[in-house]
Amino acid sequence: MAQVVAIDGPTAAGKGTLARRLAAELGFAYLDTGLIYRAVAALALALADPPGEAEMLAAAAALTAADLARPGLRTEKIAQWSSRVAAVPAVRAAVKDFQLRFIAAPPDGKPGAVLDGRDIGTVICPDAPAKLFVTASAEARAERRFRELQGRGEPAIYAAVLDDLRDRDRRDSDRAVSPLKPAADAVVLDTTELDAEQAFQKALSIVRGRLAANPKA
Ligand code: C5P
Repeated sequence: MAQVVAIDGPTAAGKGTLARRLAAELGFAYLDTGLIYRAVAALALALADPPGEAEMLAAAAALTAADLARPGLRTEKIAQWSSRVAAVPAVRAAVKDFQLRFIAAPPDGKPGAVLDGRDIGTVICPDAPAKLFVTASAEARAERRFRELQGRGEPAIYAAVLDDLRDRDRRDSDRAVSPLKPAADAVVLDTTELDAEQAFQKALSIVRGRLAANPKA
């Protein structure tokens, strides 16, 4: 099996940027697993709005890699629906298979894979040699998301961004199946007081240390 780096954490903790840079630095493939749930939500919404469990399951069964490149997956509406589809066990089972296929054979023959999400170190790849749980205070995460939305020219209200983020945190942490929590052997990286470069350097040194200690994992 390819070497796997598992990056988990709550929404807007900066794990996507971090995971993408780690993958580039290590020469590994990168999979944003949140995008899978977003694509399932978008497909389900195309079937019915609001979608029920039947549409969510049909969407998960029909999902292909090309769906991850669909435009519009980063909207707040899709974000909120993605955390609802992610609470359905049969959706998670279908999405798990998708991720295991990626890990078994990373694209372009890459020797490893960096996956970011909520349950990579706990459920998808509990044997991953390197696991990080990237987090930050809800206020710091909302501030970053708010600035990102403003930067994209989208209208945003800080208080509403913070509320939406707390809603998603609650759904992700309280769900019965694969709730958001650090794996027992994950290193917790709190980025509240770190800029992106500092977070990356810390993460890289932790991951390199773990991979060196587990060369054949
Ligand atoms: O990371 P992102 O915000 O794109 O994820 C969207 C939603 O997908 C999350 O709120 C979460 O509910 C779900 N998700 C998940 N497990 C993952 C990745 C994402 O449940 N591994």
